[in-house]
Amino acid sequence: MYRAPRGTADVLPEEQGYWRYIEARARALGQRFGYQRLDTPVFEQTALFVRGVGQGTDIVEKEMYSFLDRGGDSMTLRPEGTAPVCRAYLEHGMHNQPQPVRLYYFSPAFRYERPQAGRFRQHHQFGVEALGDGDPSVDAEIVEMAWRLMEDLGLRDLTLLLNSIGDSECRPAYLEHLRAYYASRVERLCQDCRGRLERSPLRLLDCKQEACQALAQEAPRSIDHLCHPCRDHWEELMKCLRRLDIPFRVEPRLVRGLDYYTRTVFEIQPPEERAQSTLCAGGRYDGLIQELGGPPTPGIGFAAGMERMVSNVKGQGVPVPQEESVRVVIAYLGDEAKGEALSLASQLRSKGIGAVLAPAGKSLRAQMRYANSLGVSYALILGEEEMRSGSALLRDMAKGEQRVVPLQGVAEELAN
Ligand code: ATP
Ligand code: MG
Repeated sequence: MYRAPRGTADVLPEEQGYWRYIEARARALGQRFGYQRLDTPVFEQTALFVRGVGQGTDIVEKEMYSFLDRGGDSMTLRPEGTAPVCRAYLEHGMHNQPQPVRLYYFSPAFRYERPQAGRFRQHHQFGVEALGDGDPSVDAEIVEMAWRLMEDLGLRDLTLLLNSIGDSECRPAYLEHLRAYYASRVERLCQDCRGRLERSPLRLLDCKQEACQALAQEAPRSIDHLCHPCRDHWEELMKCLRRLDIPFRVEPRLVRGLDYYTRTVFEIQPPEERAQSTLCAGGRYDGLIQELGGPPTPGIGFAAGMERMVSNVKGQGVPVPQEESVRVVIAYLGDEAKGEALSLASQLRSKGIGAVLAPAGKSLRAQMRYANSLGVSYALILGEEEMRSGSALLRDMAKGEQRVVPLQGVAEELAN
């Protein structure tokens, strides 16, 4: 037997209600905040992600699904959404439109990770990006969107973590402090972090190893080393969030590891904090579009993991409407009734009512069992008796009551 590849999952029919619930709320959120949907391809040139996500990140170092296509070009299944959005923004001249350009997307993301609860090799993201405006009010807008999304989903007891990692002006000096701090404690770092210390010391703050996390607690904080413009931006962002009544906690260890990530970073955590539980992560990337060959352009966005939202919505027992499915099963006996059943089903569907035929050649009892298993509201029963009189039995499944109805007009009656 074949199985779905390790780290991937089927979304079964009974799960679909959760996904549609979250998608509907995410779309409504985009609409309320003036964001437009953008869909980009599932694969891109590998170089886009190497530049746009960055050498020295987990994604580029060890997680990408890259392949040579038959023309010999290196392609990569999208591991994240921001680089493709920025690519499309430049490719379609959106930088010439009034700024900021506000976009959202739904997309699968592919990362070769070690599969665990909440961590997959194919997962799905809802993401938003605001491009072309560096004002702190835009940071507040993005953080607010993430927070409102979680509220709209009915999730409770979440924590919003916020930090500023400065920019190319102030970060170099901060990184020196960080290197000096870690250099005198190298023997307590994990192997990976020892390797990262010279190249990307910020990433040490993000390491999931216990020993490294303990060291990170006492490490120098970026918010204590911001230059004036970054400090003003940071203060104003916090002011906006307070004004919007969005509760946040300053978390000095929250980082993004690359030079083109600037200033604001944030995450939303569920109540029980585990390494793979972050619901949503975002930040500002004022150097990214330039890195991709465009003009200097500020940008900020977040991505929320669909699987993690589903699991929290379930875990917190949020009532989610189930998908409306079939409402009527048509049971019938005999060949003549079969033709009538087909045509009745067709009439019902044309009125927007979900209808299916019970399985052919089964006893009435078996057909009703089938209707029960689908959980339908009604069964229409076409027996030989009814056929002779041009009528049917309409059975209300919940009440267990049935009555004779004329075939003529039964579709209208059910539609009402
Ligand atoms: P981590 O540090 O936990 O690996 P990340 O920084 O790689 O997280 P992002 O790239 O910011 O995560 O992804 C945005 C969101 O997508 C995450 O907050 C999470 O909800 C979801 N996500 C990321 N990777 C996975 C995965 N492998 N499986 C399921 N969801 C994921
Ligand atoms: Mg990751």
